[in-house]
Amino acid sequence: MSDLLTTIFNRNPNEPEFHQAVDEVYETVEKVIEKHPKYKQAKIFERMSEPERLISFRVTWVDDNGEVQVNKGYRVQMNSAIGPYKGGLRFHPSVTPSILKFLAFEQIFKNALTGLPMGGGKGGSDFDPKSKSDGEVMRFCQSFMAELSKHIGHRIDVPAGDIGVGGREIGFMFGAYKKIQNEFTGVLTGKGQGWGGSLIRPEATGYGLIYFAQNMLAEKKDSLNGKVCLVSGSGNVAQYAIKKLLLLGAKPVTVSDSSGYIYDEDGISAEKLNFLMELKNEKRGRISEYADKFKSAKYFANSKSDHNPLWSHKADCAFPCATQNEINAKDAKNLIAGGVKLLAEGANMPTMSDAITILMKAGVNYAPGKASNAGGVATSGLEMVQNYGGIYWSRDEVDDRLKGIMKEIHDCCLRASKEYGLGTNYQAGANIAGFVKVADAMLAQGII
Ligand code: NDP
Repeated sequence: MSDLLTTIFNRNPNEPEFHQAVDEVYETVEKVIEKHPKYKQAKIFERMSEPERLISFRVTWVDDNGEVQVNKGYRVQMNSAIGPYKGGLRFHPSVTPSILKFLAFEQIFKNALTGLPMGGGKGGSDFDPKSKSDGEVMRFCQSFMAELSKHIGHRIDVPAGDIGVGGREIGFMFGAYKKIQNEFTGVLTGKGQGWGGSLIRPEATGYGLIYFAQNMLAEKKDSLNGKVCLVSGSGNVAQYAIKKLLLLGAKPVTVSDSSGYIYDEDGISAEKLNFLMELKNEKRGRISEYADKFKSAKYFANSKSDHNPLWSHKADCAFPCATQNEINAKDAKNLIAGGVKLLAEGANMPTMSDAITILMKAGVNYAPGKASNAGGVATSGLEMVQNYGGIYWSRDEVDDRLKGIMKEIHDCCLRASKEYGLGTNYQAGANIAGFVKVADAMLAQGII
């Protein structure tokens, strides 16, 4: 391992996810740093790996039984070289500083790739909204925002949703911010359409992912029409990825949640997707109920296996849309054996490093999340622009901009990868293009 990585890892002990993300980026930008000594002299990579600010706070609230509950709250303000901090809030019991630092680090490069002026940030809590009443979620969100509101602002830091934070949570947090600060500003994105939200924002990450995959296939004179697709997750990203796949003539056959997965050999049709969306978004149910309703589907509960059988089914394309590290080396081999030729990440860092190596060696067309799932934050950027200007664009206008941004990110990754003699390598291209943009801004702004 390089001295630089050793120093960073020693400075951030016991943070495996953060180390994994830093390692993955460094591996591909090392040659850029070697070629341009100015980045080395200014210790740009070391500075990018250290959050500008990490806020940690207590969140206390009262549950429906009148019991006091205590959770941890965080905001990682990672890098503001090219714009206000921007990145989601995650509410999940697995949330730790390591997870949020990896997400905030990834967000630096992702936001740079969108071409919009947004820095990198991420935040969240170990609070689990699952099985909580609306009243409990509201009281938690209000308490969380009572502290977070001191550190954010529409020109400072603009959080959005992520795992466990959807329209309901954004609404409660926006209401709390407005009451505390006595101002109505675009301090959060993912807002409802009647109060400052952008059309297409709910769809944006999933749609953007599939637009990116379309571009990857178009490069090879191919399309999504007729392709059998494995999708994991059943939340915001998975739902709209499936919707767009159906619109483009593909056949999605799987979805999952943290308890297990569904394999529907006949394909998840528009009607079945509507059922799934109501089940997950309104009833807050479990996907096992999909198999109770549709006999063509089989439900597989999670087992203590060394691989996830979801990735063993025969398919052409794979779209992991649940969470980090959901595809290991064995899963990668199963994907290859099952015929998968394209994998584009909807989730952040769902593919482990050794799995990426295996997939790319086998010629699988691989797109990292920081490029392929950037449609969500890009459309959040468009929401910010609409909030600043007080004007609102039509559905088609936002969707066209999203399509244009995803095409530009795709082309930008290829340009950067080719410039460094790496051919078609979206992983290296995304890291290099994102790094250079932020590094140049940091150089211009001096040693701060
Ligand atoms: P949601 O909360 O809407 O859905 C998350 C889905 O993943 C659920 O099906 C959930 O299952 C499942 N899941 C969560 N944690 C685990 C776990 N530890 N093991 C197995 N399954 C799990 O989140 P999103 O759809 O918004 O986010 C999904 C991924 O996409 C995340 O990696 C997120 O960072 C990334 N992303 C999201 C963006 C957005 O705009 N929302 C933008 C860019 C990236 P269950 O219902 O059981 O919890």
